[in-house]
Amino acid sequence: MGTYDIIIVGAGPAGIFCALQAAGQGYKVLMLEKGRPLEKRNCPAKNDGGNCLKCKNCSIVCGWGGAGAFSDGKLTLSSQVGGNLAQDIGEEKLRKEMEEVDRVYLEFGAPEHVYGPSPERLEELEKKALMADMKFVAADLRHLGTGHSTKILQEMYRRLQEDGVEIKTNTKVSQIWVEKDTLQGVKTQAGEEYRGKYVMVAPGRENASWFEEEARRLGLSLSINPVDIGIRVEVPSVVTHDITRDVYEPKLLYYSKTFDDRVRTFCMCPHGEVVQENNQGLITVNGHSYADKKTNNTNFALLVSKTFTEPFREPITYGHYIARLANLLGGGVLVQRLGDLLAGRRSTRERLERGQVEPTLKEATPGDLSLVLPYRHLKSLIEMLEALDCMAPGIYSRNTLLYGVEVKFYSSRIEVDKNMETQIPNLFVGGDGAGITRGLMQASITGWMIGKAIVYRIKEERSR
Ligand SMILES: Cc1cc2nc3c(=O)[nH]c(=O)nc-3n(C[C@H](O)[C@H](O)[C@H](O)COP(=O)(O)OP(=O)(O)OC[C@H]3O[C@@H](n4cnc5c(N)ncnc54)[C@H](O)[C@@H]3O)c2cc1C
Repeated sequence: MGTYDIIIVGAGPAGIFCALQAAGQGYKVLMLEKGRPLEKRNCPAKNDGGNCLKCKNCSIVCGWGGAGAFSDGKLTLSSQVGGNLAQDIGEEKLRKEMEEVDRVYLEFGAPEHVYGPSPERLEELEKKALMADMKFVAADLRHLGTGHSTKILQEMYRRLQEDGVEIKTNTKVSQIWVEKDTLQGVKTQAGEEYRGKYVMVAPGRENASWFEEEARRLGLSLSINPVDIGIRVEVPSVVTHDITRDVYEPKLLYYSKTFDDRVRTFCMCPHGEVVQENNQGLITVNGHSYADKKTNNTNFALLVSKTFTEPFREPITYGHYIARLANLLGGGVLVQRLGDLLAGRRSTRERLERGQVEPTLKEATPGDLSLVLPYRHLKSLIEMLEALDCMAPGIYSRNTLLYGVEVKFYSSRIEVDKNMETQIPNLFVGGDGAGITRGLMQASITGWMIGKAIVYRIKEERSR
């Protein structure tokens, strides 16, 4: 069904940046994406009272633009956030690639403004965090905003098409095609075969389990990443104002007193909304801030990282199991007031109505998170909420809303070299689905680097 120089599987930021790097140079590039084009990515739940219909290809996380398409697009310009690339390729190289990728986002319409604290303010926050037993990690950040993200992605689509990249949406790759240890291309669920000299696979977190199965089938080495399980916390925006006003996304790290587990804040959404997310039928919680719509609340995730050791090798299954428990009890996302959790009782609609924080996720079911989260996780989360209260008084209020569960499935990590090439020559993997990154910026960087490596390789071959 066609022969290509480069085949890219997955049109999230990793896939798109690989294509941007390779496009317009006369190479035959094919992008295969199982979800829909951006303008057709509609969540039917919006017309069905918010009830998730558990679509096969969830439009929230699949389709042109990938998982981040409808996120508020926080591009973190720090090497310490959004993945482990700093360890893999070195701080200096990462900085350089980040500058290039950031320039591409700017070229496609990202706002010029970068959020970040002044050195004096940074020192003040670091000191406050230390006194509360936490570490403050500053990350400069470019905020695309939800509306803006989609415009940028649409513009990238237009440019790639203009540059001759063939883009096929609604096309699911079922197999990475390898014969006698030689990469041939890919096969799709519909039975099509595409030959390609180079293949870049970036399936994102949503389809990481498919990729893991493929990696095992192909005999690629895998290592286990931690699984992050926690809750989304929602408070009135005034409570967090002091730490969000000129930092935008404060990252706080804490080691719990009882278990010495690593707990961290993640994805702070000032004036944002709590949303539900469908992970192949499993409903978890997340958060957004919109550029043009502001609520009176701020939400953020609190996540406990747990790395499992031998013989246990299934952290993703463990995370799924806990999320399934929440779904079993609440039909989806559960919400509980901190006061109710501490008093050992479930929240009810009436109790929530008496609270001071109006939930922004209306579909969440009032319930009891202590029936879902393991003691170890719950204890660590409560201890961090107490610590946070020293920095932002009001967080440890009985009215604070806790939504559960938020789970970050960091895919098993595929062994790759510095160019993200696997043990199978010419097969490259990037982004979140390969367990290498955890955010828009670093995912984009992997694609960008892979694109460079492939183009370099092709040029060398052709000059011989
Ligand atoms: C609600 C939400 C908000 C977020 N907000 C932020 C944020 O503000 N800042 C930030 O840095 N990060 C954010 N993230 C995370 C960010 O979106 C991801 O880190 C990033 O999108 C990962 O990029 P990726 O290209 O690796 O994978 P993805 O973006 O997940 O893209 C993978 C694509 O591959 C497709 N695919 C998978 N398997 C196949 C297959 N077999 N065949 C064909 N296609 C396939 C999928 O449909 C998907 O479109 C958010 C995520 C979500 C869900």
